[in-house]
Amino acid sequence: MTRFTRATRISAIEISEIMQLTEKAAGLKVAGRDVVALTTGEPDFPTPDHVVEAAHQAALAGKTKYPATLGTAELRAAIAAANGVTAAEVIVTTGAKQVLANAMLASLDPGHEVIMPAPFWTSYADIVLMAGGTPVILPCGADLGFKLSPEALEAAITPQTRWLMLNSPSNPSGAIYSAAEIKGLAEVLARHPQVWVLSDEIYEHLSYVPFVPFTMAAPALKDRTLVVNGVSKSYAMTGWRIGWGVGPAELIKAMGAVQGQITSGACSIAQAAALAALTGDQALLDERRAVMLARRDRMVAGLNAMPGVTCPVPDGAFYVFPDLSEAIEKGGFASDAELCAWLLDEAGVAIVPGRAFGLPGHARISFAYAETDLIKGLRRMHAALETRLAV
Ligand code: PLP
Repeated sequence: MTRFTRATRISAIEISEIMQLTEKAAGLKVAGRDVVALTTGEPDFPTPDHVVEAAHQAALAGKTKYPATLGTAELRAAIAAANGVTAAEVIVTTGAKQVLANAMLASLDPGHEVIMPAPFWTSYADIVLMAGGTPVILPCGADLGFKLSPEALEAAITPQTRWLMLNSPSNPSGAIYSAAEIKGLAEVLARHPQVWVLSDEIYEHLSYVPFVPFTMAAPALKDRTLVVNGVSKSYAMTGWRIGWGVGPAELIKAMGAVQGQITSGACSIAQAAALAALTGDQALLDERRAVMLARRDRMVAGLNAMPGVTCPVPDGAFYVFPDLSEAIEKGGFASDAELCAWLLDEAGVAIVPGRAFGLPGHARISFAYAETDLIKGLRRMHAALETRLAV
């Protein structure tokens, strides 16, 4: 049989469980089933009009040629100014996801380890595997606020460790690291100069408590920190595929070499749109955060009223990550995945099992959906669990 993967470690990787479930729910809808999908992290708002207009103008102005590999001069300059760095420290990518891929491909050799607290965003471990590295997953449950402690970090570091991947606000838990918590981790990292930090801050503008940028709390680590950000979540621009990395010029250059061979850089029209998003009216960020905050409270209250479910309050992003272990046990399910599959079949609600994020026993529910879908989803889940757990 022909193999289309370069190694067994890659053949173990599948299309993300989030996308698999989203596509399954879409298929059921096409087949006539009334399904509520709460699976993806994609704002239900439209991209702002002025951003769409900027793309239109860019196309009319002939910005349809190959872009510069590391990004257009205008967008890199705007990102550099916002981050207090030079343009040489900025790379624009095809979505934030590609910052991660570029960085891992540019820096990992076989045997290198990448520490990631779980739950983590689903692509982290697979990107590390594809780059030839080894993910070192450290479970951080609700009792730890879903956050990594300095002690656990210290214990996990080896001479082979190359990166610590942090995500604040977190997908899926919504956890946000405080300045003191970042400082605690930075003290450990100061003793291990071979370890770099990838700080994924893509949910920066969706924080319901004060957000602390990693480099602000740990300036001494700036020369080995790569900050990941983008327009996808904050400006409802998931399909435009624009993200960026901010880090030491030497790393950015190496990432540019990877990017130049893989994509030739991000779409120039979308970069013009991202520039308009960053430099245009920012009031929409506050408006959208307020909408998401109201939804968050509704979700947390609705989930905590269900039998067998405990839902902590997320401080940021647009996901809740309830603990379903009681529902799994009392409902006679073998796992979170089995419970989620049953929910889709039985109640027509699609949510993503915690195992996809490295922390089984939970599920991620996105509230980046219309209010009507959220209410319908909560009602159906509640009724289904009540019936199942009463038996
Ligand atoms: N980082 C985190 C934590 C995310 O949740 C996502 C998307 O879900 C990304 C990165 C990727 O963002 P983009 O769609 O811009 O590639």
